[in-house]
Amino acid sequence: MAQRVAVGESAAGPKRTSRVRVAVRLRPYMDKQDVKAEGPCVRGLDSRRLEIINWRNATETLQYEFDVFHGEQTTQREVFVESVKPILRHILTGQNASVFAYGPTGAGKTHTMLGTSEEPGVIPRAVREVFSLVRAQQAQQDGWEYAISMSYLEIYNEKVLDLLCPSTQDLPIREDKDHNILIPGLTSTTLTSFSDFHTHFLPASLNRTTASTKLNQRSSRSHAILLIKVVRTRHGPPHRQQTGKLYLVDLAGSEDNRRTGNQGIRLKESGAINLSLFTLSKVVDALNGAPGTRVPYRDSKLTRLLQDSLGGSAHSVMVTNVAPEYRYYFDTFTALNFAAKSKQIVNRPFVRETLLQPTLTKGKRPREQGGSGSSEP
Ligand code: ADP
Ligand code: MG
Repeated sequence: MAQRVAVGESAAGPKRTSRVRVAVRLRPYMDKQDVKAEGPCVRGLDSRRLEIINWRNATETLQYEFDVFHGEQTTQREVFVESVKPILRHILTGQNASVFAYGPTGAGKTHTMLGTSEEPGVIPRAVREVFSLVRAQQAQQDGWEYAISMSYLEIYNEKVLDLLCPSTQDLPIREDKDHNILIPGLTSTTLTSFSDFHTHFLPASLNRTTASTKLNQRSSRSHAILLIKVVRTRHGPPHRQQTGKLYLVDLAGSEDNRRTGNQGIRLKESGAINLSLFTLSKVVDALNGAPGTRVPYRDSKLTRLLQDSLGGSAHSVMVTNVAPEYRYYFDTFTALNFAAKSKQIVNRPFVRETLLQPTLTKGKRPREQGGSGSSEP
């Protein structure tokens, strides 16, 4: 019998909690409907900070600092190398990791995670890297045998759905005696090469995108979760086995659904989405805040599933995607307040050096998207 070895966590002592690293990525300005030539309302300052116009007082900007800021010129490769690649080696030694893309619909989450065939995102690059790390270990003949597998699921309306076997219903999430979180009925497909991954992942992810246009932009309302597992086994006594998990998550849009005026069933969905995202924000806040704060993992499906791979001894990165156009202003503002390590009001007009939009310094306000309220500065 293989014996499970827990790494980085002692059964006796309290769990170490590690911070969630927060990166912010600003996508390029691309508003084709910008008839008023408003220009962007967000811009980068350096490799950790950005600023956004303060709509209450256009002679001020709000400056935010993060662990990393990826400006609009940042390539897919740079995002991967700086924010994701460093954590991947840990999953070969039985540790867990998670990467998730957060932010409003249209701000670049899917571009960051999935990308295109010309500009592949975090997911294909991470899977390729895991294969290359495993190959390198195998070449060293270190006495371990490695196996890589994938699962792909969606959390929609607080239901867990298997994207590799779409006929299954809501799957239950369980915890074993070693505090590993698992989904017993979930399809797990062994991968022997990167092209294997392509074969299984692409049709499933296309399914999801096609369905989304028919079903009220489902992709912006559900969390898509790819799990890559590396199991390594030592042959010969004492028969150790270690399992490392990597979660790659394209989260539901963080926009405030109350403001966009959804009704009926959509409102129910919004509530469920808000529960998972709201709980995620509380979990990340608790992990990054004062030590000893209770982490409310059990309050939603998403955080329950990620419990063993977010905080604790796991390595976690959140990439918050934001868009520079005015029509995203309030959702950008909310997302930045969640992601920021620090925030500062600075007395200088946003467009001081830009000659294109001189009206912006004259108390111009961004258009609100409907109602008002909680997301105001
Ligand atoms: P989300 O998944 O957050 O709703 P998408 O990833 O679909 O957003 O991005 C919205 C649009 O912006 C898409 O057309 C996408 O190709 C484009 N886009 C997003 N980020 C970038 C980027 N960094 N560079 C170029 N285009 C981008
Ligand atoms: Mg998307």
